[in-house]
Parts: sequence; C-alpha cells; structure tokens
Amino acid sequence: MTHVRDAIRLYDRTVARLSRRELMNVAWKLGVAALAQPLVSSRVLAQPTFDAYPFTLGVASGDPLPDGVVLWTRLAPKPLEGGGMPMANVDVAWEVARDEEFRTIVQKGAAVARPELGHSVHVELTGLEPSRDYWYRFRAGGEVSQTGRTKTAPQEGAAVDHLRFAVCGCNHYEPGYFTAFRRIAEEPFDFVFHTGDYIYEGRADGGQHPDRVRQHHGQEIYTLVDYRNRYAQYKSDPDLMAAHASAPFIVTWDDHEVDNDYAGDIDENDRPSEVFLLRRAAAYQAYYESMPLRAGALPAGPRMRLVRRLQFGNLIDLSVLDTRQFRSKQACGGGVRTDCAAALDPARTMLGAEQERWLFDNLAAAKARWTVLGQQVPTFARDLLKANPEGRFSMDKWDGYVAARQRLYARLKETSAPNPILLSGDVHVHYGADLKLDFADPRSDTVGVEFTNSAVTSSGDGSDVATNWEQTQGHNPHIRYHSARRGYIACTATQTTMRADFKILDKVTVPNQPARVGGSLVVEAGRPGSVTD
Ligand code: FE
Ligand code: CA
Repeated sequence: MTHVRDAIRLYDRTVARLSRRELMNVAWKLGVAALAQPLVSSRVLAQPTFDAYPFTLGVASGDPLPDGVVLWTRLAPKPLEGGGMPMANVDVAWEVARDEEFRTIVQKGAAVARPELGHSVHVELTGLEPSRDYWYRFRAGGEVSQTGRTKTAPQEGAAVDHLRFAVCGCNHYEPGYFTAFRRIAEEPFDFVFHTGDYIYEGRADGGQHPDRVRQHHGQEIYTLVDYRNRYAQYKSDPDLMAAHASAPFIVTWDDHEVDNDYAGDIDENDRPSEVFLLRRAAAYQAYYESMPLRAGALPAGPRMRLVRRLQFGNLIDLSVLDTRQFRSKQACGGGVRTDCAAALDPARTMLGAEQERWLFDNLAAAKARWTVLGQQVPTFARDLLKANPEGRFSMDKWDGYVAARQRLYARLKETSAPNPILLSGDVHVHYGADLKLDFADPRSDTVGVEFTNSAVTSSGDGSDVATNWEQTQGHNPHIRYHSARRGYIACTATQTTMRADFKILDKVTVPNQPARVGGSLVVEAGRPGSVTD
C-alpha cells in the first residue's frame, strides 16, 4: 500500500504543477527517476536501421493538463513477434506544432526507446498553452510516424463553457470491427475516456464461435512478450490508431488487461497468488508500455498506480479509479447470485482503503460544475432477475460490494460534491441510470447519474433490447436508458447540462458501418437525476 500512497501523492503533486526538480526528488524515492530525466547516454542508437517501418502501432497522447499532455509511441517493425527491434536504446525525435502541416513547430526534443520497456516512448510535455489543439509526430532511423492531434486541458479554475468527450471500452478484437473507434476519430472530442477491456487475454477462438470476424494471434497470454504482442495486434487496427491520433485518451483498465474477473491478487482460476502476481506484473508492464501514461504510472512489479485526478477548468473534476487491483474477491463464488449475504459484508472493498480515502477527499474538495468518476464496472443495482423473483445480481460489479457502494453514495451526499456523473463499461450494454441512495426505494435520494458504455465490439452485433429486459425493467426503475447494441457515448458538458448521446452501430461484424444516436439523456446542473431527450 505504501507504493500506492506514494504514487497517488506523487501524481497529485505533479498535477499541482510541481517543479521538475521536486518531481525528480519524489521520483527518485519511487525509483522512476531515470524515466523523467533527459537522457544522455553513449549507448543510444541515434541512427538505427529497421527491417521494416517501425511505427506500426501508431501514436497516442493522453492525460491532458493545462500545460501539456503525454505523447506515446512504440517502435515495433515486427509487431506480433515481440517488436523486432535491436536490443539497444534507440533515439526517437519528437515535434509538436500548432498546425497539422508542422509549419509552426513549438517544441521538439528526443526521447529514448528502451528494450526494457518494449521500445515504447512516453514524452511528458510541459510549457504548452491551455485549451489548445496541437499536432505531434515522431522520427526514428529516418522514418516518420503518423501525425496525431491532441489538446491541452483548460487553465486551472478557468471559466469553461463547453467540453465534449467520448466514453468507450470493451474492444474485443475477434467479434467485430473497431468501427466505433473510427466514428470517435471523426467527432471533435476534447478527450476520450476508456473504461477498460482494451485487450482480451484469451487464445484465438479458432472457429468455436463461427460469428467471430477476426482471430487473436496465439494462445492465452501469460508472459510480457505475449501481452506486448496482443497489444500490438490490437493497436495495428487502423480504426483504433485513428481514434488515438484524433484526441488525448484518459485510460483505465478492467479485468481483461490481465485475466477475466480477477480480483486483487486472485485470478479466475484461484491459482496461488504468488504465481498470479508474476502474470499481473507482466500484464501491468505491457499496459504501461502500450498506453499514453505518465512516468508516475510505471509499475513496480505487480503494482501500478492508475488512479489520478484531472481537472478541466471550472467545468469537470475527473477522478480516474481502479476497481481491480485492490478489490476483495467476488462474493459467493462470483457469477450471478441470489441472496448472497456476503455481498453485504462491510469489510469487503472495491477500491481498497487508500484509494477510497483519496477519492473521498477528492469529493470533499470538488468545486467544478461536474464531479466525474471514471471507472470500470457499473455501480448501480442491476437486478438481472432471470425468472427469479428474489432478484439476481452480478457479483463482479458493485452489486457484489454493496457496503462499498453505500459508502460511496453516502459520501456523494454528505460532501455535496457538485453534480456527480459516474462513468462505467464492462457489461456490453449501454445504460443510463439514476443512482439511488436506496435502490429498493424509488423515492430515496438520487445522488448522481451513471453513464455505462456498451462496447466497441465485445459480444458482437447485439440487439436493441437486453436479454430479459421486459421481465427486469420493473425491478430496475432507476435505469433510464438501455441498448444492447455496440457503440460509445458522446458526452457534452456545459455549465447548465451534461448530455449523453448513446451512439449505436447496427452491425460490428460488417466493416465501416455508420453510428447513430440510439437515445440521449440530459442531466441539469443542480437537479438530481436525468431526463430523456
Ligand atoms: Fe468487456
Ligand atoms: Ca470486464
């Protein structure tokens, strides 16, 4: 836990615009100093030659601050074979410009791609102007990357009247095409929030599901190289590349970045924790290498700090949560259960004590118009019924961590954090839900609204109505919108409203389909709950 506490402190202080020298002091204690340091090394290949084009995985940017973003790429001339790079440090030059044609270059520099980190590059820019579009690209060994567009956050505390962001996740490679990412790339977004399940760890389906339009490369993934190759396969997708090149991403993970339904140090198959943690370390490292994350997220063995708080002027205060690394094991053996008393146990945790305290402090300090919690699994009660009048709940969601949910909801109420909006994914259904202090009592207080994005592809084409919806609707009156089609959510925040347009693709098994608005919910600032638009 010490690592997490230090890491959270480091990040928060970084966001508070820590001086570089101070950052170095904190970073040294965490053992990540060398990453943040400008590198002078005689063992850098300044003019490497590659067997093939090295920028096969595209470019990305992430975690916007008022004065900078982090730029990302990874050199991989042979993306599915461990990368195919020479086992040496390689110089990667980067440029940032005011325009797409790079007529006005505002910053340039060089970073080192290291074999230890799969020749990934994470450049943390500072000194940019707030609320501004920038374009960036990389060069290595005479090759030039694609150009990415990014955008800085508004000035701290500045009056902001409008922000647009996408919410997406669950992009399984096999059951569909990543068209939703292409549609995201075509919209003007200030940022994209990814709710997790960025990869899936399973082996190639091999024809078991005949409706799968693509196949994973290889077997179930366990080693660092396996995870690197899996990310590389996903990142080779041109639609995903286009989304990353269109806007900064703010990412968090769910379970499939490591293993289905893992909880803390316990995997799906109850292997010994010491053994599972070796796998988790490999998975976390590959995640860091593959995402536009800051050096504060560099993993230390099987631990990694993903929680962070990002501010967008006086409009959005975003806390990014990690509901996997510190959670208790699913109650009553997991799955979907009726009458699971253990799910109510107050000793059970979803966030872990440190993260919960950190979040609860954030809620007390929140001042922006919208208090947004970016996380993975639905917090609201989802009675799946399935012909059982007692109600049936999925133990992997906050429904299996009822006391933790009550602590969170009670804290939202007690702090009066302005206009809470919770984001989630994971269940492959779009939901918009009003969050009730007591879901059994429709007249109880509404403490916030949650938008759950369906999936980019996971579960395939889907249908308009979720399984059993007719039977379950009456048991879930707080669910205001749902669709079991694939897609993403386009959110528009202003000082008076938060609008969610649930975007839907009728088919993901056919390439290049259009996206349409399946439904919209609007939350009015100062008024609890959502209204259909
Ligand atoms: Fe998923
Ligand atoms: Ca999941």
